[in-house]
Amino acid sequence: MFESDARRPLAPAVQPVPATFEDDEPPSHPRRHALWKDVPDEQWDDWRWQTHNAVRSVRQLRNLLGFTPDELEALGRLEGEYKLAIPPYYFSLIDPNDPNDPIRLQSVPSPLEAENPSGYELDDPLEEDKDSPVPGLTHRYPDRALLVTTPNCSMYCRYCTRKRATLTRGGWEGVSADDERMIDYVRQHREIKDVIVSGGDPLTLPVGKLRYYLESLKQINHVDVVRIGTRVPVTLPQRLYDPELIDLLASAEKVYIQTHFNHPREVTPEAVRVCKSLLRAGMPVNNHSVLLKGVNDDLGTMRSLLRGLLRAKVRPYYLFHCDPVTGAGHFRTSVWKGLEIMEGLRGHMSGIGCRCPTTR
Ligand code: SF4
Repeated sequence: MFESDARRPLAPAVQPVPATFEDDEPPSHPRRHALWKDVPDEQWDDWRWQTHNAVRSVRQLRNLLGFTPDELEALGRLEGEYKLAIPPYYFSLIDPNDPNDPIRLQSVPSPLEAENPSGYELDDPLEEDKDSPVPGLTHRYPDRALLVTTPNCSMYCRYCTRKRATLTRGGWEGVSADDERMIDYVRQHREIKDVIVSGGDPLTLPVGKLRYYLESLKQINHVDVVRIGTRVPVTLPQRLYDPELIDLLASAEKVYIQTHFNHPREVTPEAVRVCKSLLRAGMPVNNHSVLLKGVNDDLGTMRSLLRGLLRAKVRPYYLFHCDPVTGAGHFRTSVWKGLEIMEGLRGHMSGIGCRCPTTR
């Protein structure tokens, strides 16, 4: 964390400004794939329509993007193992002519998911299950607990740390059936001050269940902070066009939104709109990015992302290295790459937006 920017002797540390730094606005991009160009705005802006029309199969993908025959064969094999869902809104951020498009890499399955490049990728790389006294709850650090409330997400990120719960078909059972046990555990452990409500994505929960978590945690006096971990502002902002959902989140009074933008092209007017709605309702919005090879592992992209977030008043909270999770090894960079990017940002980025990378 660069807390003392004002005192830091900038001159020797500041890197020369790359020419691209003055030209780092997100590129203009067609906002709808041709398939959906005639969908009325009323439907396009409806999260139910977006969810219902999400791309969920290789059969759909092959008509929307270019693949080689070998890729299609490999993706067909992977389909039985891992889920896939990409709402039309998020899919439309992909440049269909670029096989290495950073939005595509995050959302569209790759044959590389069948590989284990380092040999030590794991299903549960953070060993959350070892610190799980109640199914779905991880209690590792004394003052905080993680609740995995659902295996569902609006879009399945191919590098997901909790892939065993989210992407893996028929995966992890101990998710939402034990919600009362999870809340009871928090209630009985007065040392827990900070609860991370995660998943999967808790903003895909039925409203009644989300209300149960929020109201229960609000009533536990020793809980100061409830962090909602969600990618909905990035992948399905339409869900947060609903003022009742914003009101419900705000009603818990302790809620911080932890979201997850990884690329400047994700910081769209739609995403900015919902982040501002959350901020106006009194909820801080923090972002964690995952450092992903081919997506954001260069200085210009990261700087553009952080500038976009700061313009939206979303605080860049930290930068994670991608965990060594099974099927996501191809996304991992070296630790040095993260340090190099942070060093390159220093002096060219507001201290609000510049934090050290962490391996968790
Ligand atoms: S939204 Fe979060 S939990 Fe869901 S797949 Fe992406 S990283 Fe995993």
